[in-house]
Amino acid sequence: MSHVMNTYARQPVAFVRGQGVWLYDEAGRKYLDALAGIAVNTLGHNHPRLVAALREQVGAIIHCSNLFQVPLQEQAADRIAEISGLDEVFFCNSGLEANEAAIKVARKYGHDRGVAEPAIVVMEKAFHGRSLATLSAGGSRKVQAGFEPLVQGFVRVPLNDLDAVRQVATHNKNVVAVFVEPIQGEGGINVSRLEYLRGLKEICDRNEWLFMSDEVQCGLGRTGKWFVYQHAGFLPDVVPLAKGLAGGVPVGACVVGGRARGVFKPGNHGSTFGGNPLAMRGVVTTLDTVKDEGLLENAARVGGAMIEGLKAALGGLPGVVEVRGRGLMIGIELDRPCGELVKRGLDAGLVFNVTADNVVRLLPALVISEAEGREVVERLAPLVKAFLSQETARPKTAAAR
Ligand code: PLP
Repeated sequence: MSHVMNTYARQPVAFVRGQGVWLYDEAGRKYLDALAGIAVNTLGHNHPRLVAALREQVGAIIHCSNLFQVPLQEQAADRIAEISGLDEVFFCNSGLEANEAAIKVARKYGHDRGVAEPAIVVMEKAFHGRSLATLSAGGSRKVQAGFEPLVQGFVRVPLNDLDAVRQVATHNKNVVAVFVEPIQGEGGINVSRLEYLRGLKEICDRNEWLFMSDEVQCGLGRTGKWFVYQHAGFLPDVVPLAKGLAGGVPVGACVVGGRARGVFKPGNHGSTFGGNPLAMRGVVTTLDTVKDEGLLENAARVGGAMIEGLKAALGGLPGVVEVRGRGLMIGIELDRPCGELVKRGLDAGLVFNVTADNVVRLLPALVISEAEGREVVERLAPLVKAFLSQETARPKTAAAR
């Protein structure tokens, strides 16, 4: 019997090493990795610059506690401030923690303004993590079920619907913030329209609400800019980050500016591991490497070509609802559950996953080359076609979202 708690439905493969966008299993079999540990391995596997920096850091100091100065935290925060345009960074260890910090910032912001029961506008189909506050903020009943009572103080609206938010603004005077994943990842690669994001920002400004952009999955260069809000051309007040921030070393960050600047004071928040020197070295090296290697441009170019390639191969086929995404955050929505495609992918030497039951999701490392991007399309398209043609022979199950 395994003593690891049974919380994941795992595939029967163990990867033991990687190189760039390639993974190798215990038997030495090679796989093309179009998932990057769910948007974590920004620089791919075994990047020489990241490996050397982390090795050196392990031999110097791994952890020392936030009771003392941590110069590497200053360096990491300076870089995040530079790329985000925001001012202050709280370091933690994961996406849910970054989002917990964001929710606390919003509540504190409300209390500071005399709102005794602050509420936050959140989106249907959103995923913000699995702590009690973040699963309550999320829009998945599946994630929430069994963990009630949920945390109060969230008002849910559909994504890309400004009127719904205007209604809330008129009727709910307790609202202090809007919390949005500008491209929903777990929810099925649902892309916010840029005009929608701008409209949301305008509503926030008019009502003095915080604009909180969960960029845990979509941020850090994957879409061709450091952050999705930069495509829309404005600055949010709060940006939670994690996943790809340190190229695979666990880290999270809650970045604030604008109306959220200065909300947290000493004693308002903390984390034992948050911002430790090893993780910070990972942040500094990852961000510098993305910049020095021109990986934003690479993500835009290769991702764009992959989306075009997938549209050409699969668009309009019966059973394919839509190919969508931005840069290296790509979804192929089918009209039926398609979880079994993941195993077929592994059999064909391709790593990806399926989210929201019926959306094939690709999140490759930012170092992926054009040839490797083409190869992902060439391996994936026939699998999807074969799956659909075989499946149409059987009775269809409704696509559960
Ligand atoms: N926010 C978003 C947008 C995510 O995609 C995720 C994880 O998938 C999280 C938050 C939670 O991050 P973590 O699993 O590191 O807690």
